[in-house]
Amino acid sequence: MIKVVLFDIDNTLFPSNEFAELARRHAISLMIEAGLPVDADKAYEKLQLIIKKYGPNYPKHFNALLKEFGMKPNPKIVAAGIVAYHQAKTSIFPYPDVPQTLIHLREEGYKVCAASQGVAIKQWDKLIRLGLHNILHEVFVTPKKSKKFYRSILRKLKLTPQEVVMVGDNIETDTKPAGEAGITTILVSPKGRHKGEADYSVKSIGEIPKILEGLKRLRNTKRQAELLLKFCRRPSS
Ligand SMILES: [Mg+2]
Repeated sequence: MIKVVLFDIDNTLFPSNEFAELARRHAISLMIEAGLPVDADKAYEKLQLIIKKYGPNYPKHFNALLKEFGMKPNPKIVAAGIVAYHQAKTSIFPYPDVPQTLIHLREEGYKVCAASQGVAIKQWDKLIRLGLHNILHEVFVTPKKSKKFYRSILRKLKLTPQEVVMVGDNIETDTKPAGEAGITTILVSPKGRHKGEADYSVKSIGEIPKILEGLKRLRNTKRQAELLLKFCRRPSS
């Protein structure tokens, strides 16, 4: 029986990519206003490359951007970028059906948890801003998602893989390693993906309760069949 539903955070509970683009474009426009003498689109392109090179959690993206344009360190321009980025952070929202689905699952008796890749404080920062921090029962964060990570979650929750479902948007970090740990997987894919990359796929989080209902029915049918088989096999006296 499924007891826990694990959710990835970025691009599963909220549109992380769209937010990141918005925040970075806002940062660049404020940096230009503060004196960065470059074209906004060109700066955005360069910033993308810097993030790709150093990773999203590198703390000096804006300093690196100035360097890319051959400029000396300029604290005013860097500060403008940081302020703009933090301002943009206040505008993050969950996908529309996320809060009510999580609350519905809780009411149905499921434990709802997050299983995320990144830096723990940053992931909590997002959950608090999204208003989801008090809805989730537990939050698990790892620097790198792997089969081992999903197994460690099972250990911490004291559950078997058959009792857990993992919901995420990424095959490599969500459905594949969780599936390898024996967990049932649901891929969130707004465009709809091919079969075989997860046990189930949904276009939005709102479809998940229906899948869990289906799993419950499947399990009951199986149990009934097993009982029937046992009864039929009983030697007659
Ligand atoms: Mg994700």
